[in-house]
Amino acid sequence: MDCSYFRARINHYVDGELGYLETAELQGHLSFCADCAEELAQMSEVRGAMATWGRTELAPPPGFAERVAAAAALEPKPGEATVGRVVGDALDALDDTLGRIPLPGGRTIPVKNVLGYGLAAAAVLIQVERYLRRARELKPL
Ligand SMILES: [Zn+2]
Repeated sequence: MDCSYFRARINHYVDGELGYLETAELQGHLSFCADCAEELAQMSEVRGAMATWGRTELAPPPGFAERVAAAAALEPKPGEATVGRVVGDALDALDDTLGRIPLPGGRTIPVKNVLGYGLAAAAVLIQVERYLRRARELKPL
């Protein structure tokens, strides 16, 4: 027998979300299908365990509050300049100044990113050129 129709309803049955007819239909099936009755029993057991966990109060590990306070004391204060903030502000200002390049599909890319990619590519090309020149110089004629 294909029990998938009833299995799909057991969760709703446990939650009390089935109507009168669906409930009667499922209960009729459960009266002779041991597999679905076992599924219902397991689901009810899991639900009961979860309900118990919901009332369990967990204590923080020892020293948790002290570690949080120490970490918070190390955090920069609002408005305090840090290297990350200075660099971030500079990049934001650069982004505002240079704008964005439209791409197909309505997307855009910041101009500063394109400049960054270009500088990285130029650095790679310079290194490749240096490597090739040095290889030519070392090569015996
Ligand atoms: Zn069944």
